[in-house]
Amino acid sequence: MATHSLDLPVMCDICGQARSTRNHSRCSKIRQQRKNVEWESYMANVTAKKLHQLQRLQPLR
Ligand SMILES: [Zn+2]
Repeated sequence: MATHSLDLPVMCDICGQARSTRNHSRCSKIRQQRKNVEWESYMANVTAKKLHQLQRLQPLR
């Protein structure tokens, strides 16, 4: 994933059509929602890891 140098590829990753052929505003919204979901799951993962670390640092007595 980190090897991608372009933020906007030629092909739309939502509908599979070339970006120049049609309006992809709807695709952009779908992509934004997908990223939001990914981000939320990522943040949940990070939060869970932090909680886990805290619990390891301060074990229940
Ligand atoms: Zn599209």
